[in-house]
Amino acid sequence: MPGMTLSLSPMFAACDSVLAFHSGKFDFSMVENAPVRTHRHKNLTIEGYSRAAVQTYWRIPELKLGFDFGAQPWSFMGTETWFVSHGHLDHIIALPSYVGRRRMMKMEPPTIYLPQPTLEGVKTLLHTLSRLDRGRLPCKLIPLKPGDEIELSRELVVAVSATRHSVPSLGFVVWERRRKLKPEFQGLSGEKIRDLRRGGTEVTNEQRRPRLAYLGDSAPQGLDDCPAMYEAEVLILEMTFVAPAHRKDRLRKFGHIHLDDIIARRDRFHNELIIASHFSTRYHARQIQRFVEKATPDLFDGRLLLWT
Ligand SMILES: [Zn+2]
Ligand SMILES: [Zn+2]
Repeated sequence: MPGMTLSLSPMFAACDSVLAFHSGKFDFSMVENAPVRTHRHKNLTIEGYSRAAVQTYWRIPELKLGFDFGAQPWSFMGTETWFVSHGHLDHIIALPSYVGRRRMMKMEPPTIYLPQPTLEGVKTLLHTLSRLDRGRLPCKLIPLKPGDEIELSRELVVAVSATRHSVPSLGFVVWERRRKLKPEFQGLSGEKIRDLRRGGTEVTNEQRRPRLAYLGDSAPQGLDDCPAMYEAEVLILEMTFVAPAHRKDRLRKFGHIHLDDIIARRDRFHNELIIASHFSTRYHARQIQRFVEKATPDLFDGRLLLWT
């Protein structure tokens, strides 16, 4: 995969000497600079906030990754792998702050995956801000395209999918993979299996399950084009519009989802948890609740969570 390390030359490092922080000892709960809602599902904690045109950011500590940089809560800084869905300001503007804070705290440069067409713009942004700030902004920027797969660890693979939005955008499915003994070898003793393995027989095969999917901003086709989104245990999707008055195609052509789109696909969602987010600022939380409960009083058998 074509990766690159962007390390901007140091010009002035005043901040470092002033701030006597050591990342290993630092308490990340000390500063609350951005709202974070938290929800636990099995062994995953979903943290984040998302409002259209305001700011969107998510983190799943157990997966050691996050999505988007609409803002960067101080508490998210310790996570060093991030995926950017697209270049809209409400998803990317805090990327430089995040990189700069990690440098200031003497943490390793982070790895940030982003849509290939946004790479040059982000590099330019970092160069400009690095000059203004007179500080380095070291990070590894890795461009992605639909169909890519990133092996984060032996257990985790992130698959990249195409989504439909008004700028180049991507969706992500985080797969957990395990090696399991092939059925034909089950019941054999450990000794026998070891002998087979030593003899060159492949005794296991890979099994995957989609743990979490993140759609980013997209028209509903972004879901339809990536069936794993419907199968992931946890799906984080956008539902920018909920009011019947906002059904008009005029809104959808910009690449967003209306509550109606979700209702129309009800049977396709096999997720244990569907987090609907990125609501328009036109709505109060109470209004969102009311519109959605009118359309689906059972909230998809209780699986639909409104992230207001
Ligand atoms: Zn957005
Ligand atoms: Zn957007």
